[in-house]
Amino acid sequence: MSNCLFCTASGPFTKPEHIIPEALGNDNLILRNEVCDKCNQYFGTKVEKFVLGKTPIAFWRTFLGIRTKHGALPHVDLSQPKQEKGRLASVHELHDNLLGFACHEDHTVSVDINDDEMIRGILDGTRTQFTFVFTRLVLSLMGRFLCKIGVELLCLDDRRLARSPAFDKARRFSRFGDGVELWPIFHGNTGTLRDLRRRFVDADGVVEEVLCYQCRVLEVASRYTLLMFTVGTDTWVVSLNDPYPTPVIREAAPDMTLELIWYSEEQVKREEEPNKALDSDKE
Ligand SMILES: [Zn+2]
Repeated sequence: MSNCLFCTASGPFTKPEHIIPEALGNDNLILRNEVCDKCNQYFGTKVEKFVLGKTPIAFWRTFLGIRTKHGALPHVDLSQPKQEKGRLASVHELHDNLLGFACHEDHTVSVDINDDEMIRGILDGTRTQFTFVFTRLVLSLMGRFLCKIGVELLCLDDRRLARSPAFDKARRFSRFGDGVELWPIFHGNTGTLRDLRRRFVDADGVVEEVLCYQCRVLEVASRYTLLMFTVGTDTWVVSLNDPYPTPVIREAAPDMTLELIWYSEEQVKREEEPNKALDSDKE
Protein backbone atom coordinates (compact mmCIF):
# COMPACT_ATOMS: atom_id res chain seq x y z
CA MET A 1 0.00 0.00 0.00
CA SER A 2 1.47 3.36 -0.95
CA ASN A 3 1.10 6.81 0.50
CA CYS A 4 0.18 9.90 -1.46
CA LEU A 5 3.18 11.50 -3.13
CA PHE A 6 2.16 14.94 -1.91
CA CYS A 7 0.27 14.70 1.40
CA THR A 8 1.27 11.14 2.50
CA ALA A 9 -2.40 10.15 3.09
CA SER A 10 -3.07 6.45 2.59
CA GLY A 11 -5.75 7.13 -0.02
CA PRO A 12 -8.30 6.90 -1.47
CA PHE A 13 -6.75 6.57 -4.92
CA THR A 14 -9.72 6.20 -7.21
CA LYS A 15 -8.88 8.91 -9.78
CA PRO A 16 -6.09 8.72 -12.35
CA GLU A 17 -3.69 11.66 -11.99
CA HIS A 18 -2.88 13.35 -15.31
CA ILE A 19 0.70 14.57 -15.08
CA ILE A 20 -0.01 17.13 -17.79
CA PRO A 21 -3.63 18.37 -17.77
CA GLU A 22 -6.00 16.69 -20.20
CA ALA A 23 -6.85 20.19 -21.41
CA LEU A 24 -3.41 20.29 -23.08
CA GLY A 25 -4.10 17.06 -24.89
CA ASN A 26 -2.48 14.56 -22.49
CA ASP A 27 -4.06 11.13 -22.45
CA ASN A 28 -1.02 8.93 -21.83
CA LEU A 29 1.09 10.43 -19.03
CA ILE A 30 -0.90 9.18 -16.05
CA LEU A 31 -0.08 8.13 -12.48
CA ARG A 32 -2.23 5.57 -10.68
CA ASN A 33 -2.22 4.92 -6.92
CA GLU A 34 0.34 7.66 -6.29
CA VAL A 35 -1.70 10.85 -5.83
CA CYS A 36 -4.74 10.72 -3.53
CA ASP A 37 -8.16 11.92 -4.65
CA LYS A 38 -7.99 14.98 -2.44
CA CYS A 39 -4.67 16.14 -3.93
CA ASN A 40 -5.89 15.27 -7.43
CA GLN A 41 -8.94 17.47 -6.87
CA TYR A 42 -6.86 20.25 -5.34
CA PHE A 43 -4.44 20.46 -8.27
CA GLY A 44 -7.28 20.45 -10.77
CA THR A 45 -9.31 23.21 -9.17
CA LYS A 46 -6.68 25.39 -7.48
CA VAL A 47 -3.58 25.18 -9.66
CA GLU A 48 -4.29 23.84 -13.15
CA LYS A 49 -7.53 25.72 -13.71
CA PHE A 50 -5.74 29.02 -13.08
CA VAL A 51 -2.69 28.19 -15.23
CA LEU A 52 -4.86 26.95 -18.10
CA GLY A 53 -7.01 30.08 -18.01
CA LYS A 54 -4.82 32.98 -16.93
CA THR A 55 -1.24 32.55 -18.15
CA PRO A 56 0.64 32.33 -21.47
CA ILE A 57 -0.27 28.62 -21.46
CA ALA A 58 -3.90 29.72 -21.78
CA PHE A 59 -2.99 31.68 -24.88
CA TRP A 60 -1.28 28.64 -26.46
CA ARG A 61 -4.28 26.44 -25.75
CA THR A 62 -6.36 28.78 -27.86
CA PHE A 63 -3.79 29.43 -30.53
CA LEU A 64 -3.12 25.73 -31.08
CA GLY A 65 -6.84 24.93 -30.91
CA ILE A 66 -6.43 22.25 -28.23
CA ARG A 67 -9.93 20.99 -27.55
CA THR A 68 -11.29 20.32 -24.10
CA LYS A 69 -12.02 16.73 -23.11
CA HIS A 70 -15.62 17.31 -24.21
CA GLY A 71 -14.44 18.36 -27.66
CA ALA A 72 -15.13 22.08 -27.29
CA LEU A 73 -12.72 24.64 -28.72
CA PRO A 74 -11.00 26.79 -26.12
CA HIS A 75 -11.85 30.34 -25.21
CA VAL A 76 -9.70 32.03 -22.61
CA ASP A 77 -9.94 35.27 -20.73
CA LEU A 78 -6.68 36.86 -19.60
CA SER A 79 -8.26 39.77 -17.76
CA GLN A 80 -7.27 40.36 -14.16
CA PRO A 81 -9.66 40.53 -11.24
CA LYS A 82 -10.88 44.04 -10.39
CA GLN A 83 -9.56 43.77 -6.87
CA GLU A 84 -6.75 41.93 -5.16
CA LYS A 85 -7.67 38.42 -4.09
CA GLY A 86 -5.66 36.72 -1.40
CA ARG A 87 -2.17 37.35 -0.11
CA LEU A 88 -0.19 37.37 -3.37
CA ALA A 89 -0.62 40.30 -5.75
CA SER A 90 -3.11 39.25 -8.41
CA VAL A 91 -3.58 42.64 -10.08
CA HIS A 92 -1.10 44.94 -11.79
CA GLU A 93 -1.94 48.35 -13.14
CA LEU A 94 0.26 47.97 -16.23
CA HIS A 95 -1.52 44.80 -17.33
CA ASP A 96 -3.77 45.25 -20.35
CA ASN A 97 -7.02 44.10 -18.98
CA LEU A 98 -10.08 42.67 -20.67
CA LEU A 99 -8.28 40.54 -23.23
CA GLY A 100 -9.74 37.25 -24.37
CA PHE A 101 -8.94 34.78 -27.14
CA ALA A 102 -11.30 32.40 -28.91
CA CYS A 103 -10.40 29.58 -31.29
CA HIS A 104 -12.70 28.76 -34.23
CA GLU A 105 -13.36 25.68 -36.36
CA ASP A 106 -11.39 27.06 -39.33
CA HIS A 107 -8.27 27.39 -37.10
CA THR A 108 -8.52 31.15 -36.86
CA VAL A 109 -8.17 32.86 -33.51
CA SER A 110 -10.03 36.01 -32.59
CA VAL A 111 -9.12 38.45 -29.89
CA ASP A 112 -11.92 39.88 -27.81
CA ILE A 113 -11.24 43.31 -26.44
CA ASN A 114 -13.78 44.77 -24.10
CA ASP A 115 -12.21 48.15 -23.68
CA ASP A 116 -13.22 51.11 -25.85
CA GLU A 117 -10.08 53.06 -25.21
CA MET A 118 -7.88 50.15 -26.26
CA ILE A 119 -9.95 49.57 -29.41
CA ARG A 120 -9.63 53.25 -30.38
CA GLY A 121 -5.88 53.04 -29.80
CA ILE A 122 -5.57 50.00 -32.07
CA LEU A 123 -7.67 51.63 -34.80
CA ASP A 124 -5.70 54.88 -34.80
CA GLY A 125 -2.38 53.04 -34.64
CA THR A 126 -1.19 54.35 -31.27
CA ARG A 127 -1.63 50.95 -29.68
CA THR A 128 0.45 48.25 -31.30
CA GLN A 129 1.12 45.83 -28.48
CA PHE A 130 -0.39 44.48 -25.31
CA THR A 131 1.23 44.07 -21.95
CA PHE A 132 0.87 40.81 -20.09
CA VAL A 133 2.16 41.19 -16.55
CA PHE A 134 3.29 38.21 -14.50
CA THR A 135 1.87 39.17 -11.14
CA ARG A 136 3.17 37.39 -8.05
CA LEU A 137 0.10 35.19 -8.14
CA VAL A 138 0.78 34.10 -11.74
CA LEU A 139 4.43 33.38 -10.95
CA SER A 140 3.53 31.43 -7.83
CA LEU A 141 0.94 29.26 -9.56
CA MET A 142 3.11 28.70 -12.63
CA GLY A 143 5.88 27.53 -10.31
CA ARG A 144 3.53 25.19 -8.45
CA PHE A 145 2.18 23.82 -11.73
CA LEU A 146 5.71 23.15 -13.05
CA CYS A 147 6.92 21.57 -9.77
CA LYS A 148 3.89 19.28 -9.75
CA ILE A 149 4.58 18.10 -13.29
CA GLY A 150 8.27 17.61 -12.55
CA VAL A 151 7.79 15.58 -9.38
CA GLU A 152 5.10 13.45 -11.04
CA LEU A 153 7.30 12.75 -14.06
CA LEU A 154 10.04 11.62 -11.67
CA CYS A 155 7.50 9.40 -9.92
CA LEU A 156 6.45 7.80 -13.18
CA ASP A 157 10.01 6.67 -13.62
CA ASP A 158 11.07 6.04 -10.04
CA ARG A 159 8.47 6.36 -7.27
CA ARG A 160 11.03 6.16 -4.50
CA LEU A 161 13.25 8.88 -5.93
CA ALA A 162 10.25 11.22 -6.29
CA ARG A 163 9.58 10.77 -2.54
CA SER A 164 13.18 11.41 -1.50
CA PRO A 165 14.09 14.42 0.70
CA ALA A 166 15.78 16.13 -2.26
CA PHE A 167 12.30 16.86 -3.64
CA ASP A 168 10.50 17.64 -0.35
CA LYS A 169 10.50 21.35 -1.09
CA ALA A 170 9.12 20.96 -4.61
CA ARG A 171 6.38 18.57 -3.44
CA ARG A 172 5.32 20.84 -0.61
CA PHE A 173 5.45 24.00 -2.67
CA SER A 174 3.36 22.49 -5.46
CA ARG A 175 0.69 21.09 -3.15
CA PHE A 176 0.59 23.62 -0.30
CA GLY A 177 2.30 26.72 -1.73
CA ASP A 178 4.58 27.00 1.28
CA GLY A 179 8.31 26.88 2.01
CA VAL A 180 9.05 29.61 -0.51
CA GLU A 181 6.65 32.19 -1.87
CA LEU A 182 7.84 31.96 -5.46
CA TRP A 183 9.80 29.21 -7.17
CA PRO A 184 12.24 30.67 -9.71
CA ILE A 185 11.17 29.96 -13.28
CA PHE A 186 13.42 30.15 -16.32
CA HIS A 187 11.97 30.87 -19.71
CA GLY A 188 13.22 30.57 -23.27
CA ASN A 189 11.83 30.61 -26.79
CA THR A 190 12.08 27.56 -29.03
CA GLY A 191 11.24 27.11 -32.69
CA THR A 192 8.73 29.06 -34.74
CA LEU A 193 4.96 29.14 -35.02
CA ARG A 194 5.25 27.34 -38.35
CA ASP A 195 6.74 24.26 -36.69
CA LEU A 196 3.77 23.78 -34.41
CA ARG A 197 1.09 22.84 -36.92
CA ARG A 198 1.92 20.34 -39.62
CA ARG A 199 -0.32 19.10 -42.43
CA PHE A 200 0.37 16.00 -44.43
CA VAL A 201 -1.53 13.50 -46.57
CA ASP A 202 -1.86 9.86 -45.63
CA ALA A 203 -4.27 7.03 -46.54
CA ASP A 204 -7.13 8.79 -44.71
CA GLY A 205 -6.63 12.10 -46.50
CA VAL A 206 -5.26 15.33 -45.15
CA VAL A 207 -4.12 15.04 -41.57
CA GLU A 208 -3.23 17.96 -39.37
CA GLU A 209 -0.95 17.48 -36.44
CA VAL A 210 -0.59 20.02 -33.66
CA LEU A 211 2.37 19.86 -31.34
CA CYS A 212 0.74 20.60 -27.98
CA TYR A 213 3.52 20.19 -25.46
CA GLN A 214 6.83 18.50 -24.76
CA CYS A 215 8.24 17.72 -21.36
CA ARG A 216 11.26 16.00 -19.90
CA VAL A 217 13.20 15.71 -16.69
CA LEU A 218 16.96 15.87 -16.98
CA GLU A 219 19.99 16.21 -14.79
CA VAL A 220 22.56 18.96 -15.33
CA ALA A 221 26.11 19.12 -13.95
CA SER A 222 25.34 16.05 -11.75
CA ARG A 223 23.62 18.51 -9.42
CA TYR A 224 20.34 19.82 -10.67
CA THR A 225 17.25 17.90 -11.62
CA LEU A 226 15.37 20.08 -14.07
CA LEU A 227 11.94 19.97 -15.60
CA MET A 228 11.78 21.40 -19.13
CA PHE A 229 8.25 21.97 -20.31
CA THR A 230 7.42 23.43 -23.71
CA VAL A 231 4.02 24.70 -24.79
CA GLY A 232 3.85 26.53 -28.12
CA THR A 233 7.18 28.28 -28.57
CA ASP A 234 7.59 28.88 -24.83
CA THR A 235 9.92 26.66 -22.82
CA TRP A 236 9.68 26.80 -19.03
CA VAL A 237 12.37 25.37 -16.76
CA VAL A 238 12.45 24.81 -13.00
CA SER A 239 15.08 23.14 -10.87
CA LEU A 240 13.26 20.55 -8.74
CA ASN A 241 15.88 19.77 -6.10
CA ASP A 242 17.20 23.30 -5.59
CA PRO A 243 15.03 26.31 -6.40
CA TYR A 244 18.05 28.57 -6.81
CA PRO A 245 20.41 26.86 -9.25
CA THR A 246 23.62 28.38 -10.62
CA PRO A 247 23.73 29.52 -14.26
CA VAL A 248 25.18 26.11 -15.16
CA ILE A 249 21.57 25.02 -15.77
CA ARG A 250 21.70 26.95 -19.05
CA GLU A 251 23.70 23.99 -20.37
CA ALA A 252 20.39 22.13 -20.43
CA ALA A 253 19.22 24.29 -23.31
CA PRO A 254 22.23 25.31 -25.40
CA ASP A 255 19.99 26.26 -28.34
CA MET A 256 18.04 28.96 -26.51
CA THR A 257 18.55 31.79 -24.06
CA LEU A 258 17.07 30.92 -20.71
CA GLU A 259 16.05 34.00 -18.76
CA LEU A 260 15.00 34.02 -15.15
CA ILE A 261 11.50 35.37 -14.66
CA TRP A 262 11.41 37.14 -11.38
CA TYR A 263 9.41 39.73 -9.60
CA SER A 264 10.67 42.38 -7.29
CA GLU A 265 8.87 45.32 -5.74
CA GLU A 266 11.67 47.65 -6.92
CA GLN A 267 11.25 46.57 -10.51
CA VAL A 268 7.54 47.25 -10.40
CA LYS A 269 8.13 50.70 -8.92
CA ARG A 270 10.65 51.54 -11.64
CA GLU A 271 8.12 50.57 -14.28
CA GLU A 272 5.37 52.56 -12.67
CA GLU A 273 7.25 55.78 -12.02
CA PRO A 274 7.83 56.88 -15.63
CA ASN A 275 4.11 56.43 -16.26
CA LYS A 276 3.21 58.44 -13.20
CA ALA A 277 5.57 61.17 -14.40
CA LEU A 278 3.80 61.20 -17.76
CA ASP A 279 0.42 61.43 -16.06
CA SER A 280 1.48 64.39 -13.94
CA ASP A 281 2.87 66.16 -17.02
CA LYS A 282 -0.60 66.10 -18.49
CA GLU A 283 -2.15 67.77 -15.47
ZN1 LIG B 1 -2.67 13.52 -1.19
